[in-house]
Amino acid sequence: MADEPGSAADPNLGKVVVTQAELEARIAELGEQLTADYEGRAPLLVGVLKGAFVFMSDLARAIRLPLEFDFMAVSSYGSATKTSGVVRIVKDLDLDLTGRHVLLVEDIVDSGLTLSYLRRNLAARGPATLEVCALLVKDGLQRSDPELRYVGFTIPPEFVVGYGLDVAERYRNLPYVCAYVGDTGTGTLQG
Ligand code: 5GP
Repeated sequence: MADEPGSAADPNLGKVVVTQAELEARIAELGEQLTADYEGRAPLLVGVLKGAFVFMSDLARAIRLPLEFDFMAVSSYGSATKTSGVVRIVKDLDLDLTGRHVLLVEDIVDSGLTLSYLRRNLAARGPATLEVCALLVKDGLQRSDPELRYVGFTIPPEFVVGYGLDVAERYRNLPYVCAYVGDTGTGTLQG
């Protein structure tokens, strides 16, 4: 890892959990699968800011279909590393979801509470279909079944950063996912 940009000599970063090559290969696969599954349709990708922006950008370019994009931002209360399930929409969507084929793109699912809130919220807006594509799912921690159709990687239940995921807005630009072993403090989680 010492030769990876941004991480050399940073004592807060632990081992690489998903490498850049693994991300590229899996996202290409997901793109193929989504291209086949949504053939003949123009899905609307809904990204959850900020964490999903890197994944959504790469995923979108792996899907060979006409696509539209929208974003929402949520903040969930809890400690800096654990959500409470109380979610507040900080930025809502611009587009109407009625009759659309919506693919919700998430960075990481830990307890699943944020995702189950978002699913309920988006489902109430009358989309024709609603599926979820999450890059990372933490092993064994989902308290509710978020009905995840598309998953990039299942990872061990440790706090990770990189490829969109932050601690206090840092590390989102790392081109891989790695463990964070530094202090996280407390506050509001804002994906
Ligand atoms: P959940 O509601 O599933 O417990 O938490 C989901 C949200 O918590 C994610 O969208 C993300 O913002 C944050 N989160 C959960 N696990 C991690 C992690 O390992 N690293 C980072 N940076 N954020 C996380």
